[in-house]
Amino acid sequence: MARTASSLFLAPSLSPSVAAKPAPLFSRRRLLSPSPSSSLPSRPKPLSLSPRATWQAAELEKGDAAAEPAGPSAPAPPSLPFRVGHGFDLHRLEPGLPLIIGGVSIPHDRGCEAHSDGDVLLHCVVDAILGALGLPDIGQIFPDSDPKWRGAASSVFIKEAVQLMHKAGYELGNLDATLILQKPKVSPHKEAIRANLCNLLGAHPSVVNLKAKTHEKVDSLGENRSIAAHTVVLLMRR
Ligand SMILES: [Zn+2]
Repeated sequence: MARTASSLFLAPSLSPSVAAKPAPLFSRRRLLSPSPSSSLPSRPKPLSLSPRATWQAAELEKGDAAAEPAGPSAPAPPSLPFRVGHGFDLHRLEPGLPLIIGGVSIPHDRGCEAHSDGDVLLHCVVDAILGALGLPDIGQIFPDSDPKWRGAASSVFIKEAVQLMHKAGYELGNLDATLILQKPKVSPHKEAIRANLCNLLGAHPSVVNLKAKTHEKVDSLGENRSIAAHTVVLLMRR
């Protein structure tokens, strides 16, 4: 993976202390020759990661340090008023397991096989937020090799992602999610799922959208053997 620990610590968006007035995103001057001008953002302070994320940053720093430009000539990174992130997740459905979507238990003859509670929607929302922040994905921050996360409620992961978002100086602009599953019908549970998602994110219902569709009875998604979800988020500097 190409992401480096240094990039985690250099990303200006991850520092709430960076100047509120955004510079042009594609300023050639800013990309090629950072100057000490007061109009430019100062070098950002490192993001304070949670203990769970810190180990990952340390591991990445060891591995990719040589690839990161350093020294006084390193270009100043752009200051972003907005950040977009995309998340995707898929789980196998197996008989006899509970089906939990967006923290809501859905009656069905099968559920998601996973190390945690297998909440496909919350997992991809977490990945979308982490992606927008330029952080490692959910599997790296909450590895399934760690028994600590066995059977964990995915609300834990969402709360952690929201905390990281706030620490980085961002808040949710809006979120759009799409569930893909053949069965059961999501419509009777949609508002409960959306309300719980709003609650977990601390967001107004008007900025959290949930859609659902079948997979036209083709492939594992259409044959009631798996369930997937996509999420796009827009984060705004606070
Ligand atoms: Zn998942």
